[in-house]
Amino acid sequence: MSEHNWSFQTKLLHNGAKVDQGTGAVSVPIHHASTFHQFDFDEYGKYDYSRSGNPTREALEQAIAELEGGTRGMAFASGMAAISTAFLLLSQGDHVVVTEDVYGGTFRIITDVLTRFGIEHTFVDMTDLHQVASAIRPNTKVIYMETPSNPLLKVTDIRGIVNLAKANNCLTFLDNTFLTPELQRPLELGVDVVLHSATKFLAGHSDVLAGLAVVKDEELGNRLYKLQNAFGAVLGVQDAWLVLRGLKTLHVRLKQSQASAQKIAEYLSKHEKVEQVYYPGLSFHPGYETQKYQADGPGAVLSFRLADAEAVKTLVNNVKLPVFAVSLGAVESILSYPARMSHAAMPAEEREKRGITDGLLRLSVGLENADDIIKDFEEALEKLPVKQSTK
Ligand SMILES: *Cc1c(COP(=O)(O)O)cnc(C)c1O
Repeated sequence: MSEHNWSFQTKLLHNGAKVDQGTGAVSVPIHHASTFHQFDFDEYGKYDYSRSGNPTREALEQAIAELEGGTRGMAFASGMAAISTAFLLLSQGDHVVVTEDVYGGTFRIITDVLTRFGIEHTFVDMTDLHQVASAIRPNTKVIYMETPSNPLLKVTDIRGIVNLAKANNCLTFLDNTFLTPELQRPLELGVDVVLHSATKFLAGHSDVLAGLAVVKDEELGNRLYKLQNAFGAVLGVQDAWLVLRGLKTLHVRLKQSQASAQKIAEYLSKHEKVEQVYYPGLSFHPGYETQKYQADGPGAVLSFRLADAEAVKTLVNNVKLPVFAVSLGAVESILSYPARMSHAAMPAEEREKRGITDGLLRLSVGLENADDIIKDFEEALEKLPVKQSTK
């Protein structure tokens, strides 16, 4: 669409959605129409019915395709609608290999729904390529990645997984919600389907639910488009417009939030009442090198572990800046409690095994001044009892 190879930052503004070709409007018009008049009896126009195609939704679909380096983008009513529709590429008897700390909603679709349709799965620690290789069966059709993962920010070697998948004739799906194409472009690394909860960083303001899927291969794009149209979980035009507006500031938002996240992660990692910090921007994080190699930054989400549930409660009751809520990737900082929020559906034993203990908190860093957030945490952490040695 652009004749120059502009930088990503510039492409956020100078893409197909920049100017409406019909009117010159510098904001994509919101086409509230379910159906479209056909001017020619014999030859129908580009649009006929909004589930199949709508110009406002299409502007977003083209923008995300361009930003991810794909040929086709599709917008859905939520991240889960995008993920669920992508799974409709599978058939009865197929098998999926999935990262064990996958998003809770994806866990639910795979374990509660796909199983009823005869689609099997194996959960693996995706940081271990040997585990992935030994989980692949003759009927494996998809390897499903999420990197960095939620909530422990584990980093998967994308190229390593892509090579395994290609050698075994399976597709790769990657949930790119945490980093967005600003920081990670999986299609360039050979991934087949990139999925997003655009509810998070892409839209960025905690005011809309949206999902996106992007592919590079045109034939796969046609198959997925047919499923989008068939299943019908498409994004409404008002919401598509909100995502398009959010996208324009993605670069400045993520740059600022990421710089603050690095500062906060370093601060927390030195605090005596914090047992562990998980952030791929810290040099002692096990995925630090892989992250540096395959992404342009560690992102703006970090997790940290306090002694126990009591310590978590005291901290949450005393911090003033972050909202205490589910979700991430917004202008305001969001503090979440995975054990009781995103991973509440997981049995306690299963959670503990995966490191999602009662002392774990996740922080999505927003646009507040980083020093203010640190001061807020400093004051709240002072209320915690001095750590008892567990050794
Ligand atoms: C929020 C989220 C989803 C689900 O997206 P919704 O828009 O809430 O349906 C999927 N994956 C990840 C990593 C998420 O954070």
